[in-house]
Amino acid sequence: MSAKKLFDNTEIAFALKSDSELERAYFLFKMISIEPLVKIGTAATNFALKAKLPIEGLIRATVFDHFCGGVNEKDCLPVIDKMYQKGVSSVLDYSVEGKENEQEFDSAKDIILRIMNFSKEIKAMPIAVFKPTGFGRLSLYEKVGKGEALTSEERSEWSRVEARFDAVCKRAQDNNIEVLIDAEESWMQDAADALVTKMMQKYNTQKAVVFNTLQMYRHDRLAFMKKEHEKAKNEGYFLGYKFVRGAYMEKENERAEKRGYTSPICPNKAATDENFNEGLRYAADHIDTISIFNGTHNEESSYLLMDLMESKGIAKNDSRIWFGQLYGMSDNISYNLAAEGYNVAKYMPFGPVKDVMPYLIRRAEENTSVAGQTGRELMLIEREKKRRKS
Ligand SMILES: Cc1cc2nc3c(=O)[nH]c(=O)nc-3n(C[C@H](O)[C@H](O)[C@H](O)COP(=O)(O)OP(=O)(O)OC[C@H]3O[C@@H](n4cnc5c(N)ncnc54)[C@H](O)[C@@H]3O)c2cc1C
Repeated sequence: MSAKKLFDNTEIAFALKSDSELERAYFLFKMISIEPLVKIGTAATNFALKAKLPIEGLIRATVFDHFCGGVNEKDCLPVIDKMYQKGVSSVLDYSVEGKENEQEFDSAKDIILRIMNFSKEIKAMPIAVFKPTGFGRLSLYEKVGKGEALTSEERSEWSRVEARFDAVCKRAQDNNIEVLIDAEESWMQDAADALVTKMMQKYNTQKAVVFNTLQMYRHDRLAFMKKEHEKAKNEGYFLGYKFVRGAYMEKENERAEKRGYTSPICPNKAATDENFNEGLRYAADHIDTISIFNGTHNEESSYLLMDLMESKGIAKNDSRIWFGQLYGMSDNISYNLAAEGYNVAKYMPFGPVKDVMPYLIRRAEENTSVAGQTGRELMLIEREKKRRKS
């Protein structure tokens, strides 16, 4: 099959979905393609959860079960198993967001360490992930990033954040797995970046164990990567990068406008796409020192990395290159790549329903506002429904 048609195979894409699961996915994407509905739905859901109205069942039966593996890691295991039979690995993602206290940060770290011990036993989970704000307050990252003086209390708070990063990165090295560190709002990212670089210096001495995330919708990320690359080469450690476009565009642009500074986001989608693809080209050119996790649902960027691998004679299953999508999205990319022998992993979010709402809302908004994405999911599901009937 010609490479440019690979992702059109819906039989492979949806092999794990029963007819009724396919219908549910169709209904869901139809609903979230309607922007006003998502806006009203988001507001109503937030209100209902705050008012403790009994809507968890409804959320579970719709968006939650489509985009999440379960409320705890054990719920996810049967799904992980099924996916692995088709060659797709899972990155269990504890997707609880917006927590602000030490106890919750410690608990998030402990859950992630526990998952990493599963990973030691279960081949289907070769990669772990965490969010910097899962381990510390956003405003503290912001303050550290700006280089502002910390109080002695804040200094010890920051050293606890660092210790949480260190514990997880060390566990990744000990268990011979990789750890991805997500990227978030630009105003907290400088401090997170500096911390991740520290972890790379410590744990990436033999290969990339710790991966930072580059949000390529930011116009400064290529230069950032090149600078980090010089540093890594000089000091003799490996880089690992998860490439994504970035999930906080509206928030970033709004804040920049409100406060009167230049937005860190590329001026248009085409510029983001070019920036993303240029990042992949640079990393692929330096694959001996930069490992790649290609976190995207964009078919062109996925085909591009396949082409780069082929032209450089890099094996499809080279351990330095992974393709990644989110659970519940772009199965046509994930399963067709896996069937061809590439390394593929899907983020599988889990957590209590009300705590994963920010994640679910981002997915709903993304599928509404990102032109083409939902249309494509719907078109693929329609095509598969037709194929099954014929
Ligand atoms: C495995 C995985 C891990 C992820 N981890 C993170 C993470 O750590 N941090 C994070 O922020 N996101 C993360 N994301 C989400 C990601 O950033 C995107 O929101 C999402 O994947 C959509 O982008 P895309 O490359 O799939 O495809 P596309 O649909 O081609 O691109 C959509 C993206 O393009 C950008 N864009 C759209 N319109 C414009 C415009 N007018 N101007 C400039 N840019 C524009 C936005 O970033 C938008 O999300 C992750 C995604 C995946 C698949």
